[in-house]
Amino acid sequence: MSVIELNQRQEEILRIVKENGPITGEHIADQLNLTRATLRPDLAILTMSGFLDARPRVGYFYSGKKTSASVYETVTKLKVKDFYSTPVKVQENMTVYDAICHMFAEDVGTLFVVDEQGFLTGVLSRKDLLRTSIGSQDLNNIPLHIIMTRMPNISHCSKNDTLMVAAQKLIEREVDSLPVVIERKGGLEVIGRLTKTTITRAFISLIEPAE
Ligand code: ADP
Repeated sequence: MSVIELNQRQEEILRIVKENGPITGEHIADQLNLTRATLRPDLAILTMSGFLDARPRVGYFYSGKKTSASVYETVTKLKVKDFYSTPVKVQENMTVYDAICHMFAEDVGTLFVVDEQGFLTGVLSRKDLLRTSIGSQDLNNIPLHIIMTRMPNISHCSKNDTLMVAAQKLIEREVDSLPVVIERKGGLEVIGRLTKTTITRAFISLIEPAE
């Protein structure tokens, strides 16, 4: 498999850890005359790619060369629950006109439709709304359940799924988002929204982990 290319600073960090490890991030930063914050992305890359190991209260130590398996492990450790965002839910009898306003107001690309008990019944995308808008009907007279994609044809995920599984569903179904659900007696409770943006954010987090 391909060999990862380290930048000069990462090589320096590796050298310091090989010679002094276990060593804290703070001490590595001191030796390089940099702040801990500046080093964070480099340390994250070195740790996640398997060059370094990090132990709480002990610090970093050298663990060996990167293997493709460690990249796989890193990516498959990313979970839906750590990245999903808030779902925007609407009722089935909302009009298409109001759904369009709601989508703008909430600044999302997909609305999740739920019944009175809060269980998932449908999904409404931007193009579902556009398609209806170019017809001649009065959008104030069409309830959105007429045009939504309905259960059981909705692809969803759970918060314990890996992001990899969710990403595969997005690609296979060619959709922009998945509802994150909990299976309850009587239906699927929508607790989150997993979108292509979520996957992009997770991709960035691989080199810039959140605080
Ligand atoms: P757009 O239609 O704006 O390109 P999508 O690609 O997400 O947005 O949606 C394409 C179609 O798939 C729409 O008709 C939408 O209702 C439906 N859809 C969206 N998300 C899902 C999903 N998670 N499962 C099943 N169908 C979906």
